[in-house]
Amino acid sequence: MPGIVPPGSKVLVSGANGYIAARVVRTLLEKGYAVRGTVRSEEKGTHLKKIFAGYGEKFETVVVEDITKEGAFDEAVKGVHAIEHTASPFHFKADDPQELIEPAVNGTRSILKSALNESSIRRIVVTSSSAAILSILPERKVFTELDWNEQSIEEVKQGKNASQVSKYRASKTLAEKAAWDFYEASNTNRSWDLVVLNPPFVFGPIIHDVSSPAALGTSAGDWYNSVVRPDMGGKTIEAITTIGGGWVDVRDIALAHVLALQKQEAGGERLLISKGEFVYQDFIDTANALSPSPIPSHTDLPKGRPGAGKDFVAKIVYDASKASKILGPELVYHTMEETTRDTLADFEKRGW
Ligand code: NDP
Repeated sequence: MPGIVPPGSKVLVSGANGYIAARVVRTLLEKGYAVRGTVRSEEKGTHLKKIFAGYGEKFETVVVEDITKEGAFDEAVKGVHAIEHTASPFHFKADDPQELIEPAVNGTRSILKSALNESSIRRIVVTSSSAAILSILPERKVFTELDWNEQSIEEVKQGKNASQVSKYRASKTLAEKAAWDFYEASNTNRSWDLVVLNPPFVFGPIIHDVSSPAALGTSAGDWYNSVVRPDMGGKTIEAITTIGGGWVDVRDIALAHVLALQKQEAGGERLLISKGEFVYQDFIDTANALSPSPIPSHTDLPKGRPGAGKDFVAKIVYDASKASKILGPELVYHTMEETTRDTLADFEKRGW
């Protein structure tokens, strides 16, 4: 029967070496699950094996070289009770939109298809994004799980000329649509139900393998460039005070992935997971106000235009109340101050 997956069960996490996924793995292990993580090469599993060595046989990795191939996950799904599908490209460097869309959509279809063969699977959680929900509108709008980003799908019809954000947003929208379509079409022959999580920008301390700030992923890298680098990564005052978005701490989106396995009512739902809106000036002000400073040796944090974030009126606002209701009181979001302090302390420890 589809439904909840209790601690003690085995969970497959795709793209386990990623920023969010490594946290999902850690949270699952902490809560008593066994985890099998997929990586694209043996080498990419080395760091994970090291940091989760204390869990012994409860953590293992398997190599899935090409997630888009039919049957790619057939071996990986054997004997698991749930899947957290996070693997998908997240960058703003694509030339052809298909560079993002193909692995996002076909990777999703491929893992769901493999999951049809494994009757032990009770639930699948897919990491989508608020990118699959938002639209750019002239007016302010509070977005909910009822909204779909059709705008980016239209925009990528221009091919290479579409904006970078549209290419990524279209990949997430089309992948999530593919997941729901597959779910409906396989209604009579699957043992599992589907939960989709839609976070906005994810920030917070990293535990995956990153050698330098330049190698940080898209969201953590953007935070580092804006809040830590004295030149704000070359961003203008206008950019850090007027271009905003929603955000959530990586530890909270990881916990949401685990809670999504534990709540019956989550089955068949998409859930916006968001702490709130921000402009980088807010994080910059928070970083400068921390006392005691988590980075005593680092005195050249950017200042931007202190206080200017307060004038920012977000046009895109996310209503995350459905997730709070379904995932329950355990999901308590980290505050901006906590996320900023812990992220800076993490960077300080790494000498960044
Ligand atoms: P990372 O880049 O840190 O991790 C992405 C993971 O996906 C890695 O394991 C990566 O493998 C794998 N991957 C990327 N491209 C491919 C591909 N073509 N084929 C197979 N595997 C691939 O990203 P995040 O942790 O930030 O993102 C994880 C998920 O969360 C993604 O689905 C993303 O869209 C979503 N998300 C992220 C947000 C954020 O702010 N970070 C916000 C909202 C959603 P490898 O290391 O081998 O490249």
